[in-house]
Amino acid sequence: MMTSYTKPLPIINDDNRQYWEYCKQHELRMQQCNDCGYIRFPPGIICPRCHSMAAGWVKLSGRGKIYSFVVYRVSYHPSYADDIPYVVAVIQLAEGPRMESDVTGIKVEDLKVDMPVEVYFDDVTDEVSLPKFKAVS
Ligand SMILES: [Zn+2]
Repeated sequence: MMTSYTKPLPIINDDNRQYWEYCKQHELRMQQCNDCGYIRFPPGIICPRCHSMAAGWVKLSGRGKIYSFVVYRVSYHPSYADDIPYVVAVIQLAEGPRMESDVTGIKVEDLKVDMPVEVYFDDVTDEVSLPKFKAVS
């Protein structure tokens, strides 16, 4: 199926395929080490803390807060030209990991570090649902 989505898409590989499959089901899941319990992101075959290769996929709450963010006022990719100004944020998830994403539904002037956010999923193509975040009170 042709898509009108023109922004860059994630490159899906053997390490992250399961992560994106869960996103498609609108579940934010990350790998949790079976040996030390550490929840890691991005996906990989080995625990960076204890080097165990045994892991499962734990469902996260989807809640977190803004750890840091930048506001882009110049489009460095033509597909973002209509979105300026837009945000790239580092989200501190409640369960520990940090991830980069959008924070939408709020004026960039109103964004603040430590602002609570919650995940939602944007079905940008038939194959890819992107985890994005919205501010919650
Ligand atoms: Zn571990």
